[in-house]
Amino acid sequence: MEYVIGIDLGGTKINAGIVDEYGNIIKKESTSTSKTGNRIEILDKIAMLINKLTSEYEIKGIGIGSPGFIDSDKGEVLTISGNVIGWSGTKIKNELGKRFDYPIQVENDANAAAICEGWVGAGKDFDSFVMITLGTGLGGGIIVNNNLIRGSHYQGAELGHAILYPNGVRCNCGQYGCVERYISGTAVEYFYEEKTGIKLTGEEIFANYYNDEIAKGVIDKFANDLGWFLISLKNILDPEAIVIGGGVILSKDVWWDNMINHYLKNVNDDPSIRILPAKYLNDSGIIGAAKSILDKINS
Ligand SMILES: [Zn+2]
Repeated sequence: MEYVIGIDLGGTKINAGIVDEYGNIIKKESTSTSKTGNRIEILDKIAMLINKLTSEYEIKGIGIGSPGFIDSDKGEVLTISGNVIGWSGTKIKNELGKRFDYPIQVENDANAAAICEGWVGAGKDFDSFVMITLGTGLGGGIIVNNNLIRGSHYQGAELGHAILYPNGVRCNCGQYGCVERYISGTAVEYFYEEKTGIKLTGEEIFANYYNDEIAKGVIDKFANDLGWFLISLKNILDPEAIVIGGGVILSKDVWWDNMINHYLKNVNDDPSIRILPAKYLNDSGIIGAAKSILDKINS
């Protein structure tokens, strides 16, 4: 049996796991992400997790999913918009390569989620599908004929930064009206606060759907906006499936049907694209990162 390590670097936590060649997580470790903006501290924390995991298991390589535009050939973070402070420009592969004698592969975190779903999740029966990860932002991954679309400058599949409302709400990326300003947990919190002056978490707002008219209005708009965006994806890519994951999927009972109905009502043609919830939530980054290094080793 071949084992590798998959690492999922997020804004608040770093999750790492030993993953076998079938996509099972055998053992997990995690730690908080440094908030000091010191990249050496983050690298130290990643190294600590690797040391913990390799003390028990013989591994073949290390895969890392990181936010930001990632040059996956060089294993570098090109730019990042604020999620992990101080991480922009980090030569991850180079830095960890000085400490560990294993093959290392670095991938964008949303791409890692898509790789996971394509390998063992909701996308596994499709050669071409789009993955949407709904969390604090909206991450995207596009797989066409079993290949990840990274773009010519490693900036492709940034679905959250397509424009949904021209001249709309300002986004962290510098544009106005980006998709993730309207379709994400943060967006739901933003519009609820704008209407009520009350700051609630996305979870609380989704939970209040049936007893708070304003929460219901904000969530219905979110569902419609997601429906509009599915129409754009259908017309640009015509994939076999669209897989939707991320933490917001936990509350899908109050928005999924509205999203589908809005899509079907407004789309020019329905070629029966399958629209499916993701199979993996918190573990998709670890599993996808692991798969990226397994593919590298076995290519
Ligand atoms: Zn943006």
